[in-house]
Amino acid sequence: MYLYNTLSGKEELLKKPLFRSLKIFVCGPTTYDYSHIGHARTYIFFDTFVRYLKHRGFRVKYIQNITDVDDKIIERAKDEKKDPAELAGIFTKEHLRNMKDLNIESVTKYARASAYVPQILKQIKTLLKKGFAYQIPGDGYYFDVSKFGDYGKLSHRTTLEAEDAVSRIDENLKKRNKADFALWKFAKLGEPKWKTDLGDGRPGWHIEDTAITEKFFGPQYDIHGGGIDLKFPHHEAEIAQQESASGKKPFVKIWMHTGFLLVDGEKMSKSLKNFITIGDLLKDYSPNILRLLVLGHHYRSPIDYSEKLANQTRAALQTFEDFLGKIDFVLETKNRTIKNFPGQKPVKVFENLMAFALEDDFNTPQALALIFESIGQNQENVWYYEKNHLVSLKKFLESTFETLGFKPKKPVIPPEVKKFVAERELLRQNKQFALADALRNKIRVLGYEVEDTPIGPLALETSNHKHQTPNLL
Ligand code: AMP
Repeated sequence: MYLYNTLSGKEELLKKPLFRSLKIFVCGPTTYDYSHIGHARTYIFFDTFVRYLKHRGFRVKYIQNITDVDDKIIERAKDEKKDPAELAGIFTKEHLRNMKDLNIESVTKYARASAYVPQILKQIKTLLKKGFAYQIPGDGYYFDVSKFGDYGKLSHRTTLEAEDAVSRIDENLKKRNKADFALWKFAKLGEPKWKTDLGDGRPGWHIEDTAITEKFFGPQYDIHGGGIDLKFPHHEAEIAQQESASGKKPFVKIWMHTGFLLVDGEKMSKSLKNFITIGDLLKDYSPNILRLLVLGHHYRSPIDYSEKLANQTRAALQTFEDFLGKIDFVLETKNRTIKNFPGQKPVKVFENLMAFALEDDFNTPQALALIFESIGQNQENVWYYEKNHLVSLKKFLESTFETLGFKPKKPVIPPEVKKFVAERELLRQNKQFALADALRNKIRVLGYEVEDTPIGPLALETSNHKHQTPNLL
């Protein structure tokens, strides 16, 4: 499999480790508010990617941190007159519930930063001992970027350019370089703190990730992921910390970054307050719809979120589910006419093209296009295909969707609807069309549509029927 590596700027071969698991770390949320569908974009992508690797026979250890101690949490807790740890605890719980609702199951371990302070302190002490860190009395300990010659290698900036750092850079006029970042912050009045021999305080933002990964993976590992906003300064800082502390390079072999989910051209974010929470979205759209929307875009491309896009995605998912329903219906129908339609791509060709797409920097939009092409090619004449073709087509569609993390959903037509469908068919055969139409409307009100197919009437769920996948919620 080939993956685009932000570090080298090229696609690189991902090799399967022989005697160990592939080690993946992805940056988790800062829990000062509800998680939104921008977070979902990043986490659904990595969940799908890890599921696929496992399907390919990789053993994977996938860790995600939770930033549950941070300036933003302290500020929000102050506004809400809550204890910062309590506030972070509430939103961490909500986040984990969201992940479960989204069928995100591939994370081996969620590591809360507050549980790894001893490891954080150990790493800071190593950096101090090796001369990469210094203290600003009354403020905290900082990393000196001028001591790390490779600073900027991930974001392809020089140390000087790093001075235009844009996000979460800790300000203090006494810093040696403007881009220096905090490793440990001494506690101010009323702030959360750990009593330590370095001074009472709390960790800076970047150090939690390297302390956690060093504990579980050692000083070097395979893949680090996160949203593109984290490339600089966060991931650059991680490289500086870990490579300086261990002296081993590279800290991480492949860096993968997801594009933003945007609303009206702007990044969806907690700080811009332009977000739709995962919980709110799931009131109207199923987890499968959100997954399809996310995977319909290449992971490195932005997604322009809109309700229109969500509704189009709902309709596409409905096409997929209806088609599987049609296959089942055909397979259950006896005495059909079988016809051949030469010149069509066999299922095997779709399977091969799918593998090419996913092995090429995990091109999910292309993989999904193949799914819909295979449906489009078989849709019109599905009633006439021989059994073997339909069985392999169904297997291809279902197994691909399951590998990509969709929760299989068998359309369940309630007995009441089935009864109405049968009654309507009798009325039609007796040419009582007005009564038959009245029954069709009754069926519609219940959220189903009758399609009169060449092999009999088929009941399907209507796409604007706002159903949820019941066993997910
Ligand atoms: P945060 O809670 O802001 O620390 O973000 C946690 C993770 O979600 C990071 O990997 C972010 O890059 C990612 N993320 C946050 N907002 C978005 C967005 N609008 N689109 C894609 N990823 C995002």
